[in-house]
Amino acid sequence: MEFSLFDKEKKIVEQAEKLIAKQECDPEEIRDFLAVFIDAFRRCYQEQKCLIRISDRLQEQLLETKKELLIKTDQLKRQAKDLKALNENFASEIAARKRIEEKLRIMANRDALTKVYNRRRFLEFLEMEVKKVKRTNKALCLMILDIDKFKNINDQFGHAVGDQALCHFTTVVSSGIREIDVFGRLGGEEFGVILPETSREEALVVAERLRSMVEKRGLISAMGNINITVSIGIAELRAGESGERLIARADAAMYVAKQNGRNRVEIA
Ligand code: GH3
Ligand code: MG
Ligand code: MG
Repeated sequence: MEFSLFDKEKKIVEQAEKLIAKQECDPEEIRDFLAVFIDAFRRCYQEQKCLIRISDRLQEQLLETKKELLIKTDQLKRQAKDLKALNENFASEIAARKRIEEKLRIMANRDALTKVYNRRRFLEFLEMEVKKVKRTNKALCLMILDIDKFKNINDQFGHAVGDQALCHFTTVVSSGIREIDVFGRLGGEEFGVILPETSREEALVVAERLRSMVEKRGLISAMGNINITVSIGIAELRAGESGERLIARADAAMYVAKQNGRNRVEIA
């Protein structure tokens, strides 16, 4: 039968107690017992020494691990800091890219000088609105606006003032139309306004108001006050009509306004 170290010791102690309790002791028996006792004591002593060595080794390893852990923690802290800085760089990089993207998007859709929609984007809007009418059957009007005798402004005051006049004109017109109206530059000093959900009668009122606003609010420039007037042609979309055809009719009405003396509104 196998005993554990402690069981063996317990047995030997019990044996010693029995021996002491005896009235008479056989010297032979005491000698035998002492031999067993000494042997047990020696083994116990060796086991203890062994345990102390293991304990020392474990402590050393523990200290070593602790040191490594501290180094690792330091490294991790540094890496976390680097990552945070990297993340911040990424975030500002993304924000900068978004800003550039937005600028590019605006540049692609807007006229560089006046910032109203460019011809391409304006025609896209017109196609969209024409399609919408097919579903909703609502009225749609288109206005073509051409600044009168604009060449004279350039000739008299120079191209830079001409540019100013164009910007001034778009500011005035923008302030006179609704949010849902689409304002675009078709080329040179010719512009278009799409008026969704607007009848010809309503469009006439808007056009007359714009014409009057442009006339009243001349450009105040370094060269003095410059009067600007505009001729406007209006056309209302007919059933089944294309955007292209609608533009042609509004353009023709605008030319009639020119022929009839300029600074006027004509309707197709
Ligand atoms: P009308 O009343 O018949 O429309 O006469 P107009 O002088 O306005 O028309 P015309 O077509 O003879 O001249 C238009 C002028 O607009 C000529 C061109 O140099 C000028 N123009 C076109 N684009 C720009 C621009 O971006 N800046 C400036 N300053 N002038 C421009
Ligand atoms: Mg003109
Ligand atoms: Mg023109």
